Amino acid sequence: MKNAIRTLSGVTPVAVLTKPFPCPGSCIYCPHEENVPVSYLAQEPAVMRAITNRYNPFDQVSYRLNQYIKTGHITQKVELIILGGSWSSYPFEYRKEFVKSCLDALNKKKSESFEEAASINEKAEHRMVGLSIETRPDLITPKEISRMRNLGVTKVELGVQTTDEEILKLIRRGHGVKEVKKATQLLKDAGFKVLYHIMPGLPGASPKKDLEVFDILFQNSAFQPDMLKIYPCVVVSQTELYHWFKEGKYVPYANSELLDLLIKIKGKIPPYVRLMRLFRDIPANYIQGGSKKSNLREIIREELERRGLACQCIRCREIRNQTPEKNLTLKRINYEASQGREIFLEYIDSQDRIYALLRLRIPSYVFKKSESLFKVLGNSSIIREIHVYGVSTPLSNKGKVQHRGLGKKLIEKAQEITQREFGLGKMAVISGIGVREYYRKLGFKLQETYMVKELK
Ligand code: SF4
Ligand SMILES: [Zn+2]
Repeated sequence: MKNAIRTLSGVTPVAVLTKPFPCPGSCIYCPHEENVPVSYLAQEPAVMRAITNRYNPFDQVSYRLNQYIKTGHITQKVELIILGGSWSSYPFEYRKEFVKSCLDALNKKKSESFEEAASINEKAEHRMVGLSIETRPDLITPKEISRMRNLGVTKVELGVQTTDEEILKLIRRGHGVKEVKKATQLLKDAGFKVLYHIMPGLPGASPKKDLEVFDILFQNSAFQPDMLKIYPCVVVSQTELYHWFKEGKYVPYANSELLDLLIKIKGKIPPYVRLMRLFRDIPANYIQGGSKKSNLREIIREELERRGLACQCIRCREIRNQTPEKNLTLKRINYEASQGREIFLEYIDSQDRIYALLRLRIPSYVFKKSESLFKVLGNSSIIREIHVYGVSTPLSNKGKVQHRGLGKKLIEKAQEITQREFGLGKMAVISGIGVREYYRKLGFKLQETYMVKELK
């Protein structure tokens, strides 16, 4: 199996791009290339695949699935990752048709409607177990949340970039920190997993300020992202930043400075956060200023080892295809987030390696005694994520780590906490369309796009 690493988290990621649309933002570092969605570059691998398939969602998914199958990957559990800029600003009809076509490709059958495609996918050979989109925080409204749920979205990548108000103004982000906090709360209360894009090294930043951003992210309960993609700022041509760079108004960090910063950042990531990326793979020929080192990740790993440090994020602790231990411990971490309570449960072994996790949220409206956005979520806790790690195993097989009943045990624990500690009468799961069957077997029923279990 080539590139086994991609499916080692238990799920096969399939990234597809929307066709180019204008973006309501005008961030100074953002490239605009012809026939490429804003903020992307023609020579990035996912973009090249999308161009080959003329941005057709059906063809992109089929093409990627076939690539995976040819290289020996198991593709029954697919996480669909829709890229291409500010999803929420695109025409809704386009978005609906886009997701439908992706489902059609997974189902290997063209359906009459979105609803039909979704229903077929519940029992299809390639099931969509998660759907991720990327968007701007200021586009997250209650209406947009409903639309995302109707399309089966489970994870939202937010372009946050920094928590520094001055820098946000300087880079013409077009929104402030207030919008980030509000979006985070709305999303979490509706059960979404929230991923932040953070950009160290922006104009106006310094390594010291950048490091403070990470303190703020995890000490201020208004942020607390579940996942992070860190994209150090680089200068590419056709951007405003390129002019600033030429005029000497912007000076990127030196490689050694950036390296030191990223190592320190790693040390600040809490164990309940997954650090997805430490940089974006931008082809070196695009980079006019900033780090071109494509092996930065290895250098950082070696440097961490040399300094005797280890990143404790989820990604670095996943069991993957290592030999599992027999005795596991259920560990619990509680933290406040967006005026609600987060309970992070994980099965770990004696080396702190992670086998399964569950994110349970007691939403803010439970404490504020206010209305929930979706009626069905009233008086309910919400499971925002369940993940069992290890090699992706076929749905019917007993795998090394997946399908050992860890997911079920975590759900039972979450139910106990919901009932005994918070006295709530329901537990809801934001479930990918392709995982609904799994929850049905555990006594959950589909209500308003959520899988819900009434607790006696
Ligand atoms: S919001 Fe994103 S896509 Fe839009 S201009 Fe800013 S960086 Fe580019
Ligand atoms: Zn890590």
